[in-house]
Amino acid sequence: MKIAILSRNKKLYSTRRLIEACEQRGHEPMVLDVLRSYMEVVPSKPEMHFKGEVLQAFDAVIPRIGASVTFYGNTVLRQFEMMGAFPLNESVAISRSRDKLRSLQLLARRGIGLPNTGFAHDPDDIQDLIKMVGGAPLVIKLLEGTQGIGVVLAETKKAAESVIEAFMGLKANIMVQEYIKEAGGADIRCLVIGDKVVAAMKRQALPGEFRSNLHRGGSASLIKITPTERATAVKAAKVMGLNVAGVDILRAERGPLVMEVNSSPGLEGIEIATGKDIAGMIIEFIEKNARPNRTKTRGKG
Ligand code: ADP
Ligand code: MG
Repeated sequence: MKIAILSRNKKLYSTRRLIEACEQRGHEPMVLDVLRSYMEVVPSKPEMHFKGEVLQAFDAVIPRIGASVTFYGNTVLRQFEMMGAFPLNESVAISRSRDKLRSLQLLARRGIGLPNTGFAHDPDDIQDLIKMVGGAPLVIKLLEGTQGIGVVLAETKKAAESVIEAFMGLKANIMVQEYIKEAGGADIRCLVIGDKVVAAMKRQALPGEFRSNLHRGGSASLIKITPTERATAVKAAKVMGLNVAGVDILRAERGPLVMEVNSSPGLEGIEIATGKDIAGMIIEFIEKNARPNRTKTRGKG
């Protein structure tokens, strides 16, 4: 199969592993920097251009679209969908997952456990917002943040008020969330492919830090997850419409709580922690599922 990998950099671990897995399984991968891809939108003959050339048709596309290029990256992916290529994750599902509040609303509607979360626009509503999520300590998150940047733990009500006021003053979109203390600075990353959790790792924050992101110095280790956690992760990916997802779960007293669902999960941490060939499993999923024009939305979203 001809497989396009939408990635800005061939040297990134995940991109390299996907290229390797394609080649090992006899496919032809091509890495495309979405920002160098451009397209002609004409009735009945969608085309894709790359660095001055018209691209031939691809059987499948693997989007590895960074948060900062979501808008343009998704446009490129949609064009491939219109051309009939099978997207590992669909453009509509990626847009959904990139909007943290929309994701939580969708997950809540389907009864998936979440930390209590509030969102408000006006500083006059701060007091009630804090009360709504159960008071301090609480977590404040910038909606556009990734890799733990823009996630703040406010230990007291006073600290929470000032941080929320400061963010609102800067016109930043934020959400306020119940702090799950019993998680102990750890979360569980479940890698979902299709309807299975194929790998899971525990990420533990550095001492004195509550954010477990590997980019913030967190460390990864193997973990055995419970059947409830497994079912929660699979359901969360399904609700988001993602074939491949990194579902992050906090272990709370009341059960597993989904914190976020990532549509371009990094492969390095999880492959190293678990010793599994996740890239190979992704390509295998494509082999089983890629048929022309199999996108549910056919680029409509
Ligand atoms: P990002 O998108 O920047 O990774 P997250 O929402 O995943 O933001 O938060 C980063 C980290 O902070 C999580 O991996 C987790 O360890 C910690 N964290 C986030 N929200 C909570 C919460 N409500 N309670 C406890 N810890 C949290
Ligand atoms: Mg995260």
